[in-house]
Amino acid sequence: MLTKNSVLNDLLVAKEQLVEQKLLCARENHKPIVSLTLNIPGWPKDLAGADAFFHKMLSGFYVFAKAQRIFMDECQLRTGKSAVGNYFYAPVDFAESIENLKRITEQFEHQHALGRFIDVDVMSANGDYISSGKQKQCFICDEPANDCRRLQQHSVEQLRGFMQNKMLDWLKMQQKITRAKLLSEYTLFALLAEASLFPKPGLVSPVDCGAHTDMDYNTFLVSISRLMPELSAFYTSALSRGEPFSVAQLRELGVRAENAMFEGTQQINTHKGAIFLFLLAGSAITNLLRQNLSLSDENIRNELFKIADYFTNDPAIAKDVTNGNAVLRNFPMQKAGIRNEAASALPTVFKYGLPELRKSGYHQNLPVGKRNRALFRTLLTIMQVNSDSNVIHRGGIGKLETVQQKAAYSYNALINNQMSPYEAFCTWCKNENISPGGSADLLSVSIFIYLCQQNTNFSVYEL
Ligand SMILES: [Zn+2]
Repeated sequence: MLTKNSVLNDLLVAKEQLVEQKLLCARENHKPIVSLTLNIPGWPKDLAGADAFFHKMLSGFYVFAKAQRIFMDECQLRTGKSAVGNYFYAPVDFAESIENLKRITEQFEHQHALGRFIDVDVMSANGDYISSGKQKQCFICDEPANDCRRLQQHSVEQLRGFMQNKMLDWLKMQQKITRAKLLSEYTLFALLAEASLFPKPGLVSPVDCGAHTDMDYNTFLVSISRLMPELSAFYTSALSRGEPFSVAQLRELGVRAENAMFEGTQQINTHKGAIFLFLLAGSAITNLLRQNLSLSDENIRNELFKIADYFTNDPAIAKDVTNGNAVLRNFPMQKAGIRNEAASALPTVFKYGLPELRKSGYHQNLPVGKRNRALFRTLLTIMQVNSDSNVIHRGGIGKLETVQQKAAYSYNALINNQMSPYEAFCTWCKNENISPGGSADLLSVSIFIYLCQQNTNFSVYEL
């Protein structure tokens, strides 16, 4: 059984061991040692979230040290955990005096919101601890920590509870920042990956304009650059809120993003469908992350179903003059367009797009040939089933059926490593003035969801 004395004894032994290791390291390398430990009151020197907090602080310290020209040899870094808690130490090269090294490393503590929870120490190459002579401040009341301790202003439990809560809050905040950045990164990647893919049936690529005369690849670059700040702001605010965005609020965000797009492209519609899809998918994903639920297909679709009714029962469809809505009114049996996709929680994405990306082993860093083939396959899989209102609008229902058949034929050939039927299909679309823009949007949102599902930063969070 652990008694107070045995714990204290372990702590003392571990402290001595750490000092000896650092001394040895300093002498062997003839260099000063910088070390970092957590400043946990009482014992054990561990709290919920302490490991994650320590390692997050440590990666922040590596960046800080590099920027301050404190050089550390990666092979010499030592991290570990013992009765003293988490620790790190490393011999460093620094061009200035050891007093300056101490002063600068102390800045790391001072500039960080929770810098008081860590101790950064400097030991000379001879094994002497360098002190700045400055007093530490108390976590809780900002008074000199020694005074608080002497007067026993706070109980150890109070100090530990305070530290633990602050660490956990900070980790949650860091996690939101990381996740918002990743959502933006994957949105940008997915939109660029779709636009850059060549050849594509009737769609704009860096090489040609497909069936379009009013836009080229640059129009897409402008449009994507315009959308990104809007979508990034949306992800950040969706993750910080206490509740989901309402459909009306999402619509407002959508109109704002559309305006940004139209302004940039001089009134050309490049990404209206994509904006709609990314707001839907982004909303579902951030709702799940906020509830600490996994980004499984089932969970994402459940979130999408919560607002699906809105898209079938919206009385404003009759008044809203878009090509998609015109197709919807003229060909109600086809269940065409992106609104119908939304009303059924994006079946084309979850039943066709995502499974095909998985089947093809897609990832961002595949060699170009495999990467393109995976995306061609996914686009063709989507085109085989999607009642693309862009296709119906330009060519009618007859053309849609031909497009779906040709997509199936090209897909089967592609699976057997035959590229020419796909190339012929691309040329045919261009000549027939057909551009499956709806399928392109579904491809990019599939890539986005796929990348989110793969990243462990979006896994269920346990502290
Ligand atoms: Zn205090």
